Amino acid sequence: MIDLHAHSTASDGTEPPEVVVAAAAQAGVDVLALTDHDTYAGWPAAVAAAQEVGVGLVRGVEVSCSHRGVSVHLLGYLVDPDAAGLLAELEHARDSRLTRVERMVERMAADGIPVSLEQVQALAGEGATLGRPHIADALVANGYVATRDEAFRDILRNGSRYYVAHYAPDPVRAVELVRQAGGVPVMAHPFANARGWTVGDDVVEAMADAGLAGLEAHHRDHRAAERAHAQALAARLGLFVTGSSDYHGSGKENRLGENTTTAEVLAMIEDQATSGIEVVRAGRS
Ligand code: AMP
Ligand code: FE
Ligand code: FE
Ligand code: ZN
Repeated sequence: MIDLHAHSTASDGTEPPEVVVAAAAQAGVDVLALTDHDTYAGWPAAVAAAQEVGVGLVRGVEVSCSHRGVSVHLLGYLVDPDAAGLLAELEHARDSRLTRVERMVERMAADGIPVSLEQVQALAGEGATLGRPHIADALVANGYVATRDEAFRDILRNGSRYYVAHYAPDPVRAVELVRQAGGVPVMAHPFANARGWTVGDDVVEAMADAGLAGLEAHHRDHRAAERAHAQALAARLGLFVTGSSDYHGSGKENRLGENTTTAEVLAMIEDQATSGIEVVRAGRS
């Protein structure tokens, strides 16, 4: 069972990397990718845990991108964490996420909604990539909503009066930077239109021209029609398809291993990576 998309407390998951890796072993996952938003901070703890519990680990990242205001998520597998170009974009996005959360919280507090930046930061923890889910956690802690999901249905949704965007690179540039970092770029949940606007096939085509390797067709936020569309587009553009859980611990309903990727596609990812960052194999260091 190969699950190539999961989050830890290094971004907006609710469990530390070592707990995510242990949970993957428990769930029968053979190879897991840790793909926190805009950070590699979870890698060391995940590598140690993978060796300990005997799960394969793909070190990855989910790069926040924006195409004319439409959010795009790009998975980068086996990237060199020292590659300067990608690192600079991730740092820029993380900095901007802090200002953005600050502005969202200010707008909410001005309307009497019980939330402060200090509390959001405390709940996110030192060094985590800040996001709307951490604002949701503060609203839950203060009894304003019951769950993250409830917060996202109204107050935190994309069109909300409290919504503020953050800096994010264009997806074509992000594809180039992942390749320059020796990694393998795969577009996450490309047509997950229930959560917000998604880009058209023309943008995916431009990303493919820039070196995109695959499309995450099998994802909870895709219905049968979106999966079929992603598979057909991948076939036309010569891309492979992946499937994954997008696990966020208790922050989302997604369960580890609920969608999976084939061993053939994982082999292609390993084959295309030129960073020297290898898949951590169970029982090998
Ligand atoms: P941000 O990157 O700060 O704009 O926040 C987007 C993140 O919120 C995504 O990475 C999702 O993991 C998370 N998210 C979106 N919708 C929901 C939801 N309904 N429940 C829980 N988390 C969500
Ligand atoms: Fe997330
Ligand atoms: Fe995503
Ligand atoms: Zn994700």
